[in-house]
Amino acid sequence: MPDTAEDTYDVVILGGGSGGYACAFRAAELGMTVALVEKAKLGGTCLHVGCIPTKALLHAAEVADTAREGSQLGVNTTLESIDMAGVNGYKDGVIARLHKGLLGLAKAHKVELVEGSGRLLDRSTVEVDGRRLTGRNVVLATGSQPKTLPGLEIGGRIMTSEQALALDTVPERVVVLGGGVIGVEFASVFRSFGSEVTVVEALPRLVAAEDEAVSKVLERAFRKRGITARTGVAFAGATQDGDVVTVSLEDGSTIEADLLLVAVGRGPVTEGLGYEDAGVTLERGFVTTDERLHTGVEGVYAVGDIVPGLQLAHRGFQQGIFVAEEIAGLAPAVIPDSSIPRVTYSNPEIASVGLTEAQAREAHGEVETYEYNLGGNGKSQILQTQGFVKLVRVKDGPVVGVHMVGARMGEQIGEAQLIVGWEAHPDDVAPLIHAHPTQNEALGEAHLALAGKPLHAHS
Ligand SMILES: Cc1cc2nc3c(=O)[nH]c(=O)nc-3n(C[C@H](O)[C@H](O)[C@H](O)COP(=O)(O)OP(=O)(O)OC[C@H]3O[C@@H](n4cnc5c(N)ncnc54)[C@H](O)[C@@H]3O)c2cc1C
Repeated sequence: MPDTAEDTYDVVILGGGSGGYACAFRAAELGMTVALVEKAKLGGTCLHVGCIPTKALLHAAEVADTAREGSQLGVNTTLESIDMAGVNGYKDGVIARLHKGLLGLAKAHKVELVEGSGRLLDRSTVEVDGRRLTGRNVVLATGSQPKTLPGLEIGGRIMTSEQALALDTVPERVVVLGGGVIGVEFASVFRSFGSEVTVVEALPRLVAAEDEAVSKVLERAFRKRGITARTGVAFAGATQDGDVVTVSLEDGSTIEADLLLVAVGRGPVTEGLGYEDAGVTLERGFVTTDERLHTGVEGVYAVGDIVPGLQLAHRGFQQGIFVAEEIAGLAPAVIPDSSIPRVTYSNPEIASVGLTEAQAREAHGEVETYEYNLGGNGKSQILQTQGFVKLVRVKDGPVVGVHMVGARMGEQIGEAQLIVGWEAHPDDVAPLIHAHPTQNEALGEAHLALAGKPLHAHS
C-alpha cells in the first residue's frame, strides 16, 4: 500500500511494552502524532508475563507463608492448600484491570495502536501487514525474550518463566536454573507454595550482581526456608522421561524434579526485523545507541531491554519518556544506570541502588561502609525478619550505594534512590526524621551511624 498522509506520524514506535508505550504517551502529551505497533498485547513483558504476574504470585506466596506461620505469633492458622486456579484467577484479574487501564490511556492520548508484527523498512518506515507507517522519528522498543542454554530445549517439563506463570498445579520438586533475579523470585514462590526447590547457579553466589553481603543474607535465609542453592557448579544437561526431568551438573551429580525452570537471562528481540538493513548497529543482538539513545541512524532511537544495560521496566519507562522529550527538543538529562533502583521481590526482599562496595572501591578508591542490622529495628523485629541496610560512601564524600535485604525492604528503595541520586552525604540525611516504628528507620539509623551519631546501634 502506498504511503498516505494518514499513515505519516511524528513518531512511529515498534513495540508496546514498558519502553514503547511510555514513549508513546509522553510524545502524545507533547503534542506529537504517534503510531504504536504491537504484535501481542499492549503492556508487553512486564504487564503480561513479567513484573506484574510474578509479583502477584509473590504476594499469594506471602499470604501462604503467613497462614503457615501464624501460630508462631499465637494466631492459630494452618495452610490448607494452594489452589492454582484461584491463584491464577487473582493474578490474571490484576493483569486484566491494568491492561484495560493502559488501553484507556492510549485512547485518551490519541495514540494509534496498530496491531500486528512490524518490520523496519528504512529509517522512517515501519511495515505492518503490508501497511506502511511513516515516522519523522522511529523508536525501536521490541524488548526481550527468555534465553536458554545450548542443547537445552524448552518444552514439556522444561520451561521458562512464561510457561511457569501459567502452571495449574504446584510441582512437588523444582529445579531452578539460574540464581539471578527471576530465578530467586520463582524459587521463593515455589517454596512458599510447598515445592521442594533447588537453585543451580554457575557463579559462586546467588544474585551475583548484588553486593556480596546481600547474597550471603539471601543464601542464609533461603537455607532456613529449606531452599537448596547449588552455587559454583555449572549445568551439564537435562533429560525428560515421563513425569520426571533429570538435571545433570558438571560435578557429576544429578537432581530429579517435576519441573526445570530455565531462568538464565533474557535476550533482545531484534532478529529479522530489518534493523541492520536500515543501518542500525547490533552487538550480540542488542541495539547500540549513544547515551541519548540515538542509534546513529537519523531519526531512529531505541529504548528498553533491546538497549544493553539493566533489563527493568522502570528503566524502559524512563528511556521512553527521555526519547519523546529528546525528539521534542527538550534536551532531557541523561540518567546513569547506576541511579536506577533494583528490587528483587523474593522472601526476603532485596533492594539496592548505586554501586556495590566492590564497584565503589574500583571507581573511587577509598570508601567507607556501614551495615545497620535489622535486629535493631523495631518494625523488622515485629515482622520477624532479618537483614540489613548497608551504605557505601566515598571516603568523606557522598553515599554512592545503598543495599538492603529483609522482608518488605523493597518499599525502602524510594528514599535510598533519592539519597544516591542527589549525591547526599550521611550528614545531609542524618537530620531527617524517620517515623517510628517503621523499617524506614533502619535507613535513617544507618546514616546517623555513618555520620558518627548512632542511636540504636553501636558505633
Ligand atoms: C518473569 C519476569 C519478571 C520481571 N519482573 C520485573 C520487575 O519486578 N520489575 C522490573 O522493573 N522489571 C521486571 N522484569 C523486566 C521487565 O519486564 C522488562 O524490563 C520490560 O518489560 C522491558 O520493556 P520493553 O518495553 O523493553 O520490552 P517488552 O516489555 O518486552 O515489550 C516489547 C514489546 O514489543 C512487542 N514486539 C516485539 N517485536 C515486535 C514486532 N516485530 N512488531 C510488533 N510488536 C513487537 C512485544 O510483543 C512486546 O509487547 C521482569 C521480567 C520477567 C520476564
